[in-house]
Amino acid sequence: MSDQDYINLINGSYLVAAVLFIVGLMLLRTPATARNGNRLSALAMLIAASVTLVDRNIVEYEFIIGGVVVGTVIGVLMARTVQMTAMPQMVALFNAFGGGASALLAGSEFIRLVDAGHVDEDVGATVMLGTAIGALTLTGSLVAGGKLVGWVSQNPILFPGRNLVSGLIGVLIVAMGVFLVVDPIDNELIFGVLVALALLLGILLVTPIGGADMPVVVALFNSYSGLAAAATGFALDNNILIIAGALVGASGLILTRIMTRAMNRSLINVMFGGFGASGTEVVGVGGEVRPYRSVQPQDAAMMLAYASSVIFVPGYGLAVAQAQHELRSLADLLQARGVDVKYAIHPVAGRMPGHMNVLLAEADVPYDQLYDLDQINRDFDQTDVAVVVGANDVVNPAARDREGSPIYGMPILNVDHAQSVIVLKRSMASGFAGIDNDLFYLDRTSMLFGDAKQSVSALVSEVEDL
Ligand code: NDP
Repeated sequence: MSDQDYINLINGSYLVAAVLFIVGLMLLRTPATARNGNRLSALAMLIAASVTLVDRNIVEYEFIIGGVVVGTVIGVLMARTVQMTAMPQMVALFNAFGGGASALLAGSEFIRLVDAGHVDEDVGATVMLGTAIGALTLTGSLVAGGKLVGWVSQNPILFPGRNLVSGLIGVLIVAMGVFLVVDPIDNELIFGVLVALALLLGILLVTPIGGADMPVVVALFNSYSGLAAAATGFALDNNILIIAGALVGASGLILTRIMTRAMNRSLINVMFGGFGASGTEVVGVGGEVRPYRSVQPQDAAMMLAYASSVIFVPGYGLAVAQAQHELRSLADLLQARGVDVKYAIHPVAGRMPGHMNVLLAEADVPYDQLYDLDQINRDFDQTDVAVVVGANDVVNPAARDREGSPIYGMPILNVDHAQSVIVLKRSMASGFAGIDNDLFYLDRTSMLFGDAKQSVSALVSEVEDL
């Protein structure tokens, strides 16, 4: 095979992998095709990694094979044992590894070129980008994961002038990077300082952000890890790394945008607002005690069983209680009685993108019963009973009516338009945003107090007995 044929074969294989990545991403758009999307993307990664190994004229495979074996064992164990609710921290850890790997690759390429005595300016620039973004992604993602697990304080850690300090460090990193592009030889110490500052910046960027905002931060660092990989791909002249990195960078950014929009927040507000501290208490209006109606499972079951249409609205409490299987049983029972059952999914219900979809998919809820906010919001007007299962902010009418509320302007599910509303939660406590919810005090609303799993199980037994 001639050299040109060989290059064509490598690039052709990369092209196939790139197309598979893109088709895989497209399939991830709906739950019904998401598994196949994942499989295709994994196949693309296998092709990309194998072709790269052949292309790079590897002399010794021992370390690579050892790494693949160890990585596979750890990856399979983690994927099999991780709880659904711990998924965001696992993604944070993967982002950290992605950023760290890019920084190491770019850094080692820089040292190799310096040793060889010449670094082209374009290569130098992409090395600096890959190293700096990769290093800050590494520490930033580790802090984000630590906050999600609870190893790092969930409260925003704020000190005066923090934004100024971070800004100065950012300027220093850029200045050092430019200097190293112009004068790379014999300046390894400055390169080391640049890496150390980028690691520090990652920590400083994330510590002031409240724990509950971490999923947005994780999505943003996902994007950064892609950018670092793409920059490193340019430095190494590796097409598939550039393409895969660009795809991760763009999709992470789009996801971040979708999340901040659905929360009616700006990215600046998430990054620098100090919002989302954990342990928030209800902020009552004037602190007065407001009357509400509570209901027992028996009466709630009657309402459901004799309704003609029911919409379930799951939220974070469904994930905490792990009540998805019981909810599915209840829906099946109601459907068997001829009730029209739907699930309304808010884009930021829960604590990670797609949280509710994942939980309900785990309970094999048919995809055609899941409706997005835009698809279902009008249906509440003609619905007999809306059942809110551990949701709060995503059904809070304050987002529509109360100017000045932290969630004002956030699109919500119009649960208060249903004929009757049953809310399953443990108390009158607030949700993520820390604010009271007028929905709970409406005449048509009944509160069914208790852990969602126990409440839904009780409803299942009551409906069975009817
Ligand atoms: P919320 O956090 O607003 O409310 C959840 C409710 O669940 C609480 O009020 C709590 O009430 C109840 N609950 C908790 N545990 C249980 C349990 N075991 N059984 C029954 N109920 C329980 O959740 P939503 O899903 O409505 O809204 C999500 C919020 O999170 C939004 O503000 C969103 O912006 C934010 N967010 C979402 C992200 C995402 O990617 N999805 C990322 C970051 C933030 P009680 O204690 O009384 O039981």
